[in-house]
Amino acid sequence: MTATDAAIDSVEAAVYTVPTDAPEADGTFSWDATTLVLVSLRAAGVVGTGWTYGAPACAAVVRDHLVPVVQGRSAFDVAGTWEQMVRALRNVGRPGIGGMALSAVDLAMWDLKARLFDLPLHKLLGAVHDEVPLYGSGGFTTYDDTQLREQLTDWVNRDRIPRVKIKIGEARGTRVDRDVDRVHVSRAAIGDETELYVDANGGYSVAQAVRVARRLCDADVRWFEEPVSSDDLEGLRQVRQSTCMDVTAGEYGYDLAYFHRMCAAGAVDCLQVDVTRCGGITELLRTAAVAASQGFDVSGHCAPHLHVAALAAIPNLRHLEWFHDHVRIETMLFDGTLDPSGGALRPANDRPGHGLTPRQSRAETFRIA
Ligand SMILES: [Mg+2]
Repeated sequence: MTATDAAIDSVEAAVYTVPTDAPEADGTFSWDATTLVLVSLRAAGVVGTGWTYGAPACAAVVRDHLVPVVQGRSAFDVAGTWEQMVRALRNVGRPGIGGMALSAVDLAMWDLKARLFDLPLHKLLGAVHDEVPLYGSGGFTTYDDTQLREQLTDWVNRDRIPRVKIKIGEARGTRVDRDVDRVHVSRAAIGDETELYVDANGGYSVAQAVRVARRLCDADVRWFEEPVSSDDLEGLRQVRQSTCMDVTAGEYGYDLAYFHRMCAAGAVDCLQVDVTRCGGITELLRTAAVAASQGFDVSGHCAPHLHVAALAAIPNLRHLEWFHDHVRIETMLFDGTLDPSGGALRPANDRPGHGLTPRQSRAETFRIA
């Protein structure tokens, strides 16, 4: 067998649920644990991994619908395998759980291919950036002011990350005064030099979001994420027209068509793309090209270590979300995680693939399927 005909001889999916370190909530959801679905592919004795943060059902979609089309294919044929997976998902449903399963396998395909070539993934993809700028993200509505200040100042003072984001839109937009107070507590904690972002997770109506944006002007908020539902492209556009903040959304984008509609509607200033939902690296690169054609930047949503290589390969990169939950989980379950010091991740040049290796014994503690 030559290096270029390595067939995928095993596909495995495992599910891990990790409790949060404190109760967490945003404007429209609350949680006390996060589930990671890990896909491992093997070819020629080399293992590639990818994952998504989704329901355990993602693993069932991988096992029942994607294994039959992935097993036996060339580990080098990422695009062809991706196309076969999308076809296999027709009656399962690509958006949602189907898209997350697809993404996890695609990410594992790219990692495996790079490892077979013994190349860092960003080198295989063709990096145009040496580093990927970060913003610290957390600031959950469940935090009291002390917890909020502590988290934000750790990012700003300890890690020297010059951008941070907090959650607002508490209780579906019914606690606006507390939202505004927490923004001002945050601004006081981080000083004038750090960029401050907010994320309502779709918790407001259009008119309410416009009023909130006006109240946040004196805190110099630069980024207003999902002021209204990301399904409401016209609503996003109306908020965008009414404020000088960047209006952003896209974390629930499961395919290129959604991002195309978002660009065509002029709904946002910057597209957020989640590589663990949108269809993996294969679709993320296409999405970034569509965004570039319309003059938009791309920002990576969550799962920081899975985004780094792909975002380094995108000219129209804005930044990447250094999300508290996922940073904690990736640090617990994998060796090879990156250092955020200085406010950017530098993809490793001395390790093949995405550079992360599961810590099997530690991960077993959290395995549920
Ligand atoms: Mg968000």
